Amino acid sequence: MSIQVPRGTQDILPGEVEKWQYIEEVAKDICKTYQYKEIRTPIFESSELFMRGVGDTTDIVQKEMYVFEDRGGRSLALRPEGTAPVVRSFVQNKMFGDPNQPVKLFYTGPMFRYERPQAGRYRQFVQFGVEALGSEDPAIDAEVISLAMQVYQKLGLKNLKLIINSLGDTESRTNHREALINHFKPRIDEFCSDCQNRLEKNPLRILDCKKDRDHELMSSAPSILDYLNDESRIYFEKVQKYLQAMDIEFVVDPTLVRGLDYYNHTAFEIMSNAEGFGAITTLCGGGRYNGLVEMIGGPATPGIGFAFSIERLLAALEAERIALPIEEALDCYFVSLGEEAKDHTVKILHELRNAGFTAERDYLDRKLKAQFKAADRHHAKFVAVLGDEELKNNKINIKNMQSGEQEEVALPEFISYLEKHIRLGGH
Ligand code: AMP
Repeated sequence: MSIQVPRGTQDILPGEVEKWQYIEEVAKDICKTYQYKEIRTPIFESSELFMRGVGDTTDIVQKEMYVFEDRGGRSLALRPEGTAPVVRSFVQNKMFGDPNQPVKLFYTGPMFRYERPQAGRYRQFVQFGVEALGSEDPAIDAEVISLAMQVYQKLGLKNLKLIINSLGDTESRTNHREALINHFKPRIDEFCSDCQNRLEKNPLRILDCKKDRDHELMSSAPSILDYLNDESRIYFEKVQKYLQAMDIEFVVDPTLVRGLDYYNHTAFEIMSNAEGFGAITTLCGGGRYNGLVEMIGGPATPGIGFAFSIERLLAALEAERIALPIEEALDCYFVSLGEEAKDHTVKILHELRNAGFTAERDYLDRKLKAQFKAADRHHAKFVAVLGDEELKNNKINIKNMQSGEQEEVALPEFISYLEKHIRLGGH
């Protein structure tokens, strides 16, 4: 049998890849307006980084990470997410000492998780994410959320739902944690074994359990919002006030949690409400992680970020039937007739491309009609016809494929003719 792509991965072919490039361009342009700078970290890192940075009790680390030993006996992992690597680099490169604070970074690239593949869930997927490190101003939380929303809105998505929550600071979380333990403990034997383990270690994660989602104690569980101390409550109110100031609609959902100790204050998700969008509706997830930098060996530094995958973004665009404005048209297709003309095409084509035009020619010795057909397939705006006769007269015949008009132009004028008609939009 022929070899196929590994399960949960895909080829992105020409025709499709332009959409990815377009999305990445839009996201990068928006990052520029917000002053987030690109960072590129390795595809693989020490496994240890993710055990500390993602948490060794999480499914990602326990069940989904691609871990391997290299020939030197080091335990490495294909990165399952982008935050821990960015924080590792922040610490290693002492970015905390940079006079420009907060340090605002974005990244894009493939992530790897051994998950059960289904619509919207891959084993290799491309995330785009940002991290802002070094500020605990709620305006940064609102900025990060607005950046994510802006990417989606610039691409034309309309059916979006932003949900936010606050996990509070350490004091609030400790009080809430105690209330959760008291709430679940008397009936914990009705819960799955994972939840039983979580009770003392990390009761917040019980709220995240997929198996026990419908247990009556879930909906009556104490809400974190009732345990926020004054400082955390004011922080959360400010985030909301700033979002309102930017006309960003949101819903507060106290069940939105992130189970690890170093997550605090703001957590958010952006979902698609589009009809026909699959079962997995989360497009983007993010939150504040004021303890993470320390966990990875750096000085205490607050941080917040988000990540979304291009795969799910494309699915949302499809569900809303949004076609991205991708330029397909070719500026000029060369049709040549005769040996000398064909030879000469090499030089003109080179000059044309050098001047920045998209240009193509025939390489299969096709007949005139077939060359015109090829020009059509390329959506050529102009077809330049060069025969030996024209060449002798130092002329070239140009056909405007939209209007059907044809003109004979002196060969040395050819590029300026296209410049006038394509770049300046003349006729
Ligand atoms: P997470 O890093 O798990 O918080 O995920 C952040 C975002 O990455 C999600 O909201 C999805 O858009 C995307 N994502 C996570 N896992 C996958 C996957 N297996 N396949 C495609 N996209 C994913």
